[in-house]
Amino acid sequence: PGSRAMALRELKVCLLGDTGVGKSSIVWRFVEDSFDPNINPTIGASFMTKTVQYQNELHKFLIWDTAGQERFRALAPMYYRGSAAAIIVYDITKEETFSTLKNWVKELRQHGPPNIVVAIAGNKCDLIDVREVMERDAKDYADSIHAIFVETSAKNAININELFIEISRRIPSAD
Ligand code: GDP
Repeated sequence: PGSRAMALRELKVCLLGDTGVGKSSIVWRFVEDSFDPNINPTIGASFMTKTVQYQNELHKFLIWDTAGQERFRALAPMYYRGSAAAIIVYDITKEETFSTLKNWVKELRQHGPPNIVVAIAGNKCDLIDVREVMERDAKDYADSIHAIFVETSAKNAININELFIEISRRIPSAD
């Protein structure tokens, strides 16, 4: 109520991580609140936006979903350079995707924006029976680099909205 317009924050966020960890599915769950098991592999990168209201502010997320393949890796700086936050995704059922994540963290530290907010998402947490990465290990690593950490499931809608809200809370206001 009232005539004052609600403040709008625009937050550019990029997703990084190996192919198949669920980057597109996380974005799809957040933006459309649905899950498509036959989602198209990301070609290059796709762009989506979603605006959510949180604590009397509108948060407009401008989301760049990069492809993880090595051949697209050279393109990644285009996405993370102007980003306020990067979500680095791994698959809790594939140890090697957690190693790749550490390389992304190094690259961001070396070449990314100095104050970029880093969030680590251990996706596919619905598949605990075939887990390879312990939650404790990932959390300790995230703490050591001052990153946000959550385990997510795009499939079962676990911690997806929470991930984006936490990112928004961590990004300082422009004013
Ligand atoms: P991307 O290459 O990182 O963008 O990964 P995709 O979003 O294309 O997902 C790769 C595969 O993992 C697809 O078959 C998805 O259906 C599946 N997937 C994504 N997220 C989840 C999840 O949370 N749980 C499960 N069980 N499968 C998922």
